Amino acid sequence: MSYGQDTARQAAREILTEFGVEAAPVPVERIIKKKCIRLQFSPLDEALSGMAVIKDDVAVIGVNALHHPNRQRFTMAHELGHHILHREHLIGTVHVDKGFAVFIGGQRAMLRDEKSAEGTDIMEIQANAFASELLMPSFLIEKLIDLSSFGLEDVDQLNALAKRFKVSPQAMQYRLMAFN
Ligand SMILES: [Zn+2]
Repeated sequence: MSYGQDTARQAAREILTEFGVEAAPVPVERIIKKKCIRLQFSPLDEALSGMAVIKDDVAVIGVNALHHPNRQRFTMAHELGHHILHREHLIGTVHVDKGFAVFIGGQRAMLRDEKSAEGTDIMEIQANAFASELLMPSFLIEKLIDLSSFGLEDVDQLNALAKRFKVSPQAMQYRLMAFN
């Protein structure tokens, strides 16, 4: 079943092309700044990953500065996905994201009560697909590993690959499991 992940991944690939990204790690922070999105790092509650909003025509991404840098990168990519895919939902409404444990099948939540739970989930699925492809693009993964012989259970191998892309091993594992 598709929730628009393909469109989201395609949008991420277009950004990578636009910025001429040819090697890991993907410079997500630079991409956001070049897109004229204001990036704010603040200490937030542990449960909060980040937020996205467009206020008075100014696009903003907020990131929990207390999280691990790799997690912050995923948050940035996820929020960038919202700005690119769900712009109309961010105008005047702060979109708040809680833990992307989501991403590995855990809980997900958005503190916006005006949207249906279902619509919210679809936006989250799309933003995660966008973030995953942006930070761990298939063409870069294919350059570095042979998926047919890569052992997902090999922690050292997984950690090394995650490090190269500056993502968490969990995010990389999920990415490889969902590889297409
Ligand atoms: Zn989100």
